[in-house]
Amino acid sequence: MLIIRGLSKTYNNGIQALQNVSLEIEPGIFGLLGPNGAGKSSLMRTLATLQDADSGSVQLDGVDLLSSPQVARQLLGYLPQDFGVYPHVSAEELLNQLAVFKGFVNPKERKEIVSQQLQLVNLYSQRQQKLGTFSGGMRQRFGIAQALLGSPKLIIVDEPTAGLDPTERIRFQNLLAEISQNRVLLLSTHIVEDVAELCPQMAILNQGKIVCSGSPKLLTNAL
Ligand code: ADP
Ligand code: ADP
Repeated sequence: MLIIRGLSKTYNNGIQALQNVSLEIEPGIFGLLGPNGAGKSSLMRTLATLQDADSGSVQLDGVDLLSSPQVARQLLGYLPQDFGVYPHVSAEELLNQLAVFKGFVNPKERKEIVSQQLQLVNLYSQRQQKLGTFSGGMRQRFGIAQALLGSPKLIIVDEPTAGLDPTERIRFQNLLAEISQNRVLLLSTHIVEDVAELCPQMAILNQGKIVCSGSPKLLTNAL
């Protein structure tokens, strides 16, 4: 379970991106819905320990993430919005390199893990293709494979469906549903349908504050 308590962040320019954000999140997909500028990426980057919060705490299954980023990064996978790929590297090569960084030292084991990930996201047959040739949907699925290396208990996915066509979006949604078994998958989006279709639990963030949280039925009631 992911427990976020009193998270606040003000940037140097005075923008209060997060104001006392608290959430309790069970395993499964949790949708964080909010308009552009709401603070979603700020929250995601903070949870991924890529930027510091001014105050607050985050616990994943009892482990304090913010006080130990080293430990946190072993426990979580993060797919940033608009993540960059190396266009001249193949899917297999990049995942293999990432697996090295993640501490998989045995080449045989690494090959096995990389193959598993590529199969999971349905890119095994394209494993030798250069990433620069991937479509938007393939790229997002590859991003999931990256984030899943090492089987983290928490996956953070920032606005993943924004640029996808309808077919790719459904395919990607199915993948998210599949990988959210037995782990927390935090999905940020400004697309109401993503939350309504995918997320048993959700919250709405606006101007750095949680406006409401609960079941997506709240959305239907609110509209
Ligand atoms: P969202 O992901 O919901 O679009 P962000 O977390 O990116 O929201 O942004 C929240 C607010 O914080 C916005 O007003 C944005 O301009 C501002 N912001 C985001 N990152 C920074 C930063 N590094 N420095 C200053 N302001 C930032
Ligand atoms: P997102 O689209 O994910 O909300 P942004 O486009 O807001 O992200 O931000 C992209 C990058 O620019 C981030 O690293 C963020 O920290 C930085 N950034 C965003 N808004 C501001 C801002 N107002 N001042 C300074 N940096 C910003």
